[in-house]
Amino acid sequence: MGPRLRPLGQCALCRSWDTQAVCNSCVTRFAPARPRCRRCGLRTGTTVPLCGACLADPPPFDACSVGCDYDFPWDRLIADFKFHGRVELAAPLALLLLDAVRRDAGALPPWVLPVPLAPQRLAERGYNQAWELARRVARELGCQADARLLDRPLAGAHQAELSLPQRLKNLRGAFVPNPSRRVSLHGRHVAVVDDVMTSGATLREAAAALRRAGASRVDVWVLARTPAPAG
Ligand SMILES: [Zn+2]
Ligand SMILES: [Zn+2]
Repeated sequence: MGPRLRPLGQCALCRSWDTQAVCNSCVTRFAPARPRCRRCGLRTGTTVPLCGACLADPPPFDACSVGCDYDFPWDRLIADFKFHGRVELAAPLALLLLDAVRRDAGALPPWVLPVPLAPQRLAERGYNQAWELARRVARELGCQADARLLDRPLAGAHQAELSLPQRLKNLRGAFVPNPSRRVSLHGRHVAVVDDVMTSGATLREAAAALRRAGASRVDVWVLARTPAPAG
């Protein structure tokens, strides 16, 4: 995507004056392309296509594109975007994700959807940060974005303090394909977008629900991936 006609403002990271909310030099500096597992997006350190975990036990999604590590300075920007109402950060953050999807150069899906928020969370926040990313990336790629393919009818418990098995158990049945839209999913390739992927439990459950609804291929596009703990 080329530069757009935008008023000059300050880069959210380095405060230099720029037409973009995060300047190109900060993107280059803080979000370099890194070798990652094609399937789960974890950094591999080498150019092997798949990590050991995915070889042993593949997740229910087929491929993963990652904009950046969930690390300095993106963690702060994403927190502002997600928790402090700074929805204007969606545009530069979506660009980061768009670059990653283009770099991975996979086949583009006809449908792009966000990980849905539970209704209560959506009401509190006023927007779904995943949708703000998904619709922008889809527009640039010429895919259709649809927030209603997958519903999340119940309020989920906070996931942060749970182990991966507990998270998966907690999420079971959380995502329900919209009955009126099943025909859009059947036999189709879809991409599901989220802002941050840590354990992957949420995206696993969302992908599994899409598979059960008949999706033939599920890619995940995440703005930021939490790096594996060292050691
Ligand atoms: Zn900058
Ligand atoms: Zn992997």
